[in-house]
Amino acid sequence: MTKRMLITGGAGFLGSHLCERLLQEDNEILCLDNFYTGSRDNISHLLGNSRFELIEHDIINPIYPEVDQIYNLACPASPVHYQYNPIKTIKTNVMGAINVLGIAKRTKATVLQASTSEIYGDPEVHPQNESYWGRVNPIGIRSCYDEGKRAAECLMMDYRRQNGVNAKIVRIFNTYGPRMAINDGRVVSNFIVQALQGKDITIYGDGSHTRSFCYVDDLVDGLIRMMDSPDDFYGPVNLGNPGEFTISELSELIIKLTNSVSKIVFEPLPADDPTQRKPDITLAGEKLGWMPKVELEKGLTGTIQYFKNLISRLAKIT
Ligand code: NAD
Ligand code: UDP
Repeated sequence: MTKRMLITGGAGFLGSHLCERLLQEDNEILCLDNFYTGSRDNISHLLGNSRFELIEHDIINPIYPEVDQIYNLACPASPVHYQYNPIKTIKTNVMGAINVLGIAKRTKATVLQASTSEIYGDPEVHPQNESYWGRVNPIGIRSCYDEGKRAAECLMMDYRRQNGVNAKIVRIFNTYGPRMAINDGRVVSNFIVQALQGKDITIYGDGSHTRSFCYVDDLVDGLIRMMDSPDDFYGPVNLGNPGEFTISELSELIIKLTNSVSKIVFEPLPADDPTQRKPDITLAGEKLGWMPKVELEKGLTGTIQYFKNLISRLAKIT
């Protein structure tokens, strides 16, 4: 049966891939976005589909659609973007969660919250599993996002317990791929764009920090599996690729794959930047049968091609 799905943040990086995938599966998609960090370009190829509807709306304000499922992705994800207007970031997380939970309560829709590895803060447990409560600075420059996402998790669970809403939570670890914004500021897109343009590659700190990078197609598969999982499994569940790399290793790999002449430069590490991050995905394997498949080198190759095409398109316009 065709399902009607609301994707908040649907014109963003992850949201646009999710809309595309869910449309292939015959669903009706309401893509809601205020274009804060997302773009029409990301979803322009979907606009001609009669099962796709674009709603320009800010999720901090209530909205009353009739839906069966809600993927709540609306929120800037890059540290540069979420710190640009931190008050707006926390409003989007908290008021956005309240508004989608209101829709879910009224329509009996299932809601899936896109939470984050950031709720673990700078972790003392490695790899991070779902039972770890985290080490977050509540008053730092990342807290608008970290605490916003923690409050959203709290709201999901309270609406579940108090109102019987079928709310589920995934904790997403660093994900990359085509359609990250060129000015996104996250490490993968920054390094690729710098390498392709022959500009200095900016490593913050000494390059020893680690992250685990998941390709977007794997992540989208995990989101859908979680939404469709039996209702007695509501998470939180980690979704990410456990392959762990230092930021120096990532820079070297990107220089190699782009044949770049760029130099590496070291810049100060931003405050509260987590030292290490790697998901324990045992639970996702057991409950969802999910396991990422795309190796970093392969995923980066596709992403590099995307940015190459984008940069040459932009060069023709200007
Ligand atoms: P993104 O910035 O590309 O997408 C976010 C989308 O939300 C954008 O289209 C933006 O315009 C929209 N948006 C922001 N505020 C809004 C508001 N108030 N009302 C309506 N729309 C709004 O980021 P992304 O990487 O696609 O991330 C999507 C979600 O996944 C976010 O919630 C993010 O926190 C979460 N997440 C992503 C990652 C990752 O590595 N990509 C990791 C952890 C969590
Ligand atoms: N980083 C970097 N250079 C950049 C952008 C990011 O060295 O140009 C580092 C950043 O300090 C962090 C890691 O790369 O240690 C991942 O940063 P990102 O912004 O992608 O995501 P985060 O996991 O910190 O939210």
